[in-house]
Amino acid sequence: MSDCIFCKIVRGEIPSRKIFEDDEILAFHDLNPKAPTHFLVIPKRHIPNLMELAPADSALAGHLVYEAQRIAGELGCAERGARFVFNCKSDGGQTVDHLHLHVLGGRPLDWPPG
Ligand code: 5GP
Ligand code: ZN
Repeated sequence: MSDCIFCKIVRGEIPSRKIFEDDEILAFHDLNPKAPTHFLVIPKRHIPNLMELAPADSALAGHLVYEAQRIAGELGCAERGARFVFNCKSDGGQTVDHLHLHVLGGRPLDWPPG
């Protein structure tokens, strides 16, 4: 997906504040943070949203979630926790159609979301 914003971030064509990357995933700070800690974890491969996961993507999804909580802990959220969110398609409020896990922490968050 050559015109996808997050694919461009993966390729380095759009700058980002990277936190972590390996062969499969990339974690970077959200451009418009909604909490003191707000980063995104994405697969490097273009997957449009969570509901497009294939059975063969299970290990990738687990790896992405594992690294998200590990990084959250390293960024100071270990004691008080954080929120881990996949917005999915229009009703889920997804605006960038490349699978991403939001991690928000550093302040108490309301529930339910709007
Ligand atoms: P969504 O609404 O799809 O769940 O979340 C998309 C997120 O991507 C938003 O929180 C938005 O601030 C973030 N975002 C959109 N464009 C960019 C960008 O170019 N760089 C970074 N770092 N974040 C972005
Ligand atoms: Zn993409």
